[in-house]
Amino acid sequence: MSLTRREFMKICSASAAGFGIARMFHPAVARAVSGALDGSRPPVLWVRGLACGNCSSALLDAAHPAIADVLRKMISLEFHPALMAAEGESALRNLFKIAADYKGKYFMVLEGAIPQAAAGRYALAGALDGREYTTRDLVQELAPKAAAVLAVGTCAAFGGVAASGSNPTQSVGLGEFMRGAKINAPLVNIAGCAPHPDWIVGTLAYSLELFATEGGRRAVEALNAGLDAQRRPLAFYGPSVHNECPHLAEYKAGRMARSFTSLGGCRHSLGCRGPAARADCASRRWNGGVNWCVDNAICTGCVEPDFPGALPFYKL
Ligand code: SF4
Ligand code: SF4
Repeated sequence: MSLTRREFMKICSASAAGFGIARMFHPAVARAVSGALDGSRPPVLWVRGLACGNCSSALLDAAHPAIADVLRKMISLEFHPALMAAEGESALRNLFKIAADYKGKYFMVLEGAIPQAAAGRYALAGALDGREYTTRDLVQELAPKAAAVLAVGTCAAFGGVAASGSNPTQSVGLGEFMRGAKINAPLVNIAGCAPHPDWIVGTLAYSLELFATEGGRRAVEALNAGLDAQRRPLAFYGPSVHNECPHLAEYKAGRMARSFTSLGGCRHSLGCRGPAARADCASRRWNGGVNWCVDNAICTGCVEPDFPGALPFYKL
């Protein structure tokens, strides 16, 4: 059963902390999210490559709306290596059946990078009828027939941790893989290590809404119009972390923190990469609005294509 718009708005405003999605999201996204829930639930096929699993954990942390409502009433999550009940051959058989039955209508999500070395066998997805399928095989099969593909997390978007340093698995992000394989499906990067739950659910809902109301070509045009140069949704990745940071005045005055436990002072002296990162973390905040990275550490620029290689204290 899908939610009505009224039911959705009730859930959105039910947060005791007052951080309902309708208020926290960009207004256009909030409208799109509420509209998306009026229709049927489109299939979502979630494929995992070289990943730590925390992007899935971030999805499960979605609070407004609660992840239970997202999974039961908003999308039909037909394939997810960690969340589905099916396993083995039956899971892969269902994956390919959904892809065939809903050609051009399902959404493919990739979590983690795609390893290219060893014919992609550093990320095996399973076997069916005597054939092994790698993540690379699944993306090659599913992405061209998807309504849109979403790269969730910086590894999926840009290669991230898996592609850092000497990159022995020759891992790449979804965009680079699709360019090499000449796949033209609409791509959205939901970068972050891990991404904020609102970024994942909001982008998913916005994409579903566009394809439900605008149809194929106009939906793609509208989707593309809302992305930055890195194909991240401007609704979430528009502002710079630095410009919204509560320490900005201290940065301008040259008042720097001495240690990670300093209560005051700009963290630039400690390696903060906020000036180079574009995301709404400072205003959105994390963990239900309780805190965010710069409160007791630094911004590591986890949403950017050069993460984590550009960090000052990691040698990979
Ligand atoms: Fe910018 Fe980081 Fe300083 Fe905040 S703490 S003002 S994000 S450099
Ligand atoms: Fe990533 Fe920086 Fe946002 Fe933290 S504050 S989530 S490191 S972009």
